[in-house]
Amino acid sequence: MSAGTARPTAREVRRHKWWGWGQDDVAFRHDNKPAFAPLARDKISLDLATSVPDPDPDLSLLEVPPSGLPEAVREQLASAVGEDNLLLEDEFRVLHSFGRSLPDLVRVRAGGYERLVDAVVYPASEDEIEAVLRIVLDHDLVLIPYGGGSCISGSVTPDPAERRPVITLNMGRLDRVVDIDETAGLARVEAGVYGPDLEEQLQERGWTMGHFPDSFTYSTLGGWAATRSSGMQSDKYGDIEDIVRGLRVVHPRGVISTKAIPGRDSGPSLHELLLGSEGRLGIISECTVQVHRVASVRQVIAYMYPDWEHGIRGMHAIARSEVSPTFTRLSDGPETEFSLAMVKEPTSTKGKVAAKVQDTLFAYLRSKGWQTQGEMCISYVCFEGTKEHVEREKSIVKKIVSRNGGITLGSGPGAIYDQKKFDTPYLRDFLMSHQVFGDVCDTGATWSRINEIHSRVYDAFHAQRREVGKPGFMFCHMSHSYHAGACLYFTFAIPYESEETALEEYYGAKRRVQQAFVDHGSTVSHHHAVGTEHQPWIEEDITSLGADVIRGVFAQNDPGRNLNPGKIVSP
Ligand SMILES: Cc1cc2nc3c(=O)[nH]c(=O)nc-3n(C[C@H](O)[C@H](O)[C@H](O)COP(=O)(O)OP(=O)(O)OC[C@H]3O[C@@H](n4cnc5c(N)ncnc54)[C@H](O)[C@@H]3O)c2cc1C
Repeated sequence: MSAGTARPTAREVRRHKWWGWGQDDVAFRHDNKPAFAPLARDKISLDLATSVPDPDPDLSLLEVPPSGLPEAVREQLASAVGEDNLLLEDEFRVLHSFGRSLPDLVRVRAGGYERLVDAVVYPASEDEIEAVLRIVLDHDLVLIPYGGGSCISGSVTPDPAERRPVITLNMGRLDRVVDIDETAGLARVEAGVYGPDLEEQLQERGWTMGHFPDSFTYSTLGGWAATRSSGMQSDKYGDIEDIVRGLRVVHPRGVISTKAIPGRDSGPSLHELLLGSEGRLGIISECTVQVHRVASVRQVIAYMYPDWEHGIRGMHAIARSEVSPTFTRLSDGPETEFSLAMVKEPTSTKGKVAAKVQDTLFAYLRSKGWQTQGEMCISYVCFEGTKEHVEREKSIVKKIVSRNGGITLGSGPGAIYDQKKFDTPYLRDFLMSHQVFGDVCDTGATWSRINEIHSRVYDAFHAQRREVGKPGFMFCHMSHSYHAGACLYFTFAIPYESEETALEEYYGAKRRVQQAFVDHGSTVSHHHAVGTEHQPWIEEDITSLGADVIRGVFAQNDPGRNLNPGKIVSP
């Protein structure tokens, strides 16, 4: 991984289980979380005492159409990247044909595949990427760049109607930090590196990039740049568009390089156009990114507010104050209830004492008129820096929270949040095995409309559930604070009736939520890309003229529609 070590072979590159999230041997379990089953029964009528989970899917039981890659092309690709780095096996083609959205998971498990990619190619250098792209253009094939395949926007999936052979370009062998300019605080990094490997290489030398999306363990730098990703620490480190200062992109007519300069005026921003282009303008081979010295002290402190409105006032006041936390996050009442249901049964004496203290605190809050179930809102704020800096910022935030009706809980719950932050994606697979969909929708909202959007989205979701006469549980948190607003991140869980109607049932709820976003002046997505999933709202988001401008850029740069066609705007 570092300059001296050998690159991983294609088969060694990190990958998800073909049918779900993450590692094969990791799964969500609820037996050690006593409040989880009662919540599931109450909110979505799921009785975990009687519900029998589906067994893990078995690929050998599904029919997988053969690769349609012509032999002559196969030989050329193998000579470009080496035989071992060109994979045509069923499991690899199935895995690379889907991202990790809920519809992806339904389709990948169901089989009956309409269209799979025909080959997966693993280049190990920019020259090899160029060679593969040349073959793709010469033979009029389709090429889909692939990072970790964690997108939830349909962005790595071939168009079912595509008749040309489709090649997935897996970037995972390009996994190195090339160098760090310690004076500028800029690192040149190959685009296929996964989050944990990137941070390991940087932190070995005392640096961090500070980008931690929830999908961190299974997503890559190039994927983040190509989807305009946002990590949970964006308040301090910025979104990926703030972090990536320079790019190298293999384009159909050569290599584009944008200089890694902190500020520039080169007319309209080409750099910005390449960010978020989802593989339609070329393959990002390398990014130059801002890096920071790892802070000597890091603390996550938890706070509690009586309700959402008080919490939002507190969050807004923090955003407007002189403090600069690493992240600020506010769970609404239902999400707080969910978080409390995810707490493990204490086994140690320390844990049992903490649980007693919590019970006593909640009883006290109830005596003060707080509704501790479904209304009070937990918040986390992360502080980094020197001890003095952290202490000073904590004391300012404590006062702001108190002025806005909240209380400080301390670092105990904050530390638990920090340790468990990458575990929740496994819950979705668990729920699916019990015929329940759990999914997320995110949006960017201004401070002036954030409460309105919060309640309108709930109204839209619950109206839809009433119309279909089925239960549904929704919760939300606010994260990624900016000067003018923040991100609202909604999670919902709905039981579904049958495999046949599953996607229809899912889209019934999801579309209502997305429509509520655009109807009430917020964005179609804050950081979950466009792909095909969010495309139906793109014109409402950026106007149809705006979408036409983007369409023109793609058509001019990729007239043969060889690069991930159909994503963001169609055709
Ligand atoms: C459980 C879960 C949690 C998530 N949490 C977050 C979150 O907190 N924040 C967030 O921003 N997103 C989140 N996502 C969405 C997803 O992780 C992001 O969109 C991520 O940036 C995708 O990175 P990837 O490497 O997996 O890219 P992929 O999914 O492999 O690809 C995504 C798109 O980028 C293109 N692409 C990938 N690599 C390159 C490259 N080198 N050059 C050109 N194009 C390329 C692909 O063609 C595709 O169009 C989450 C997803 C899941 C399933």
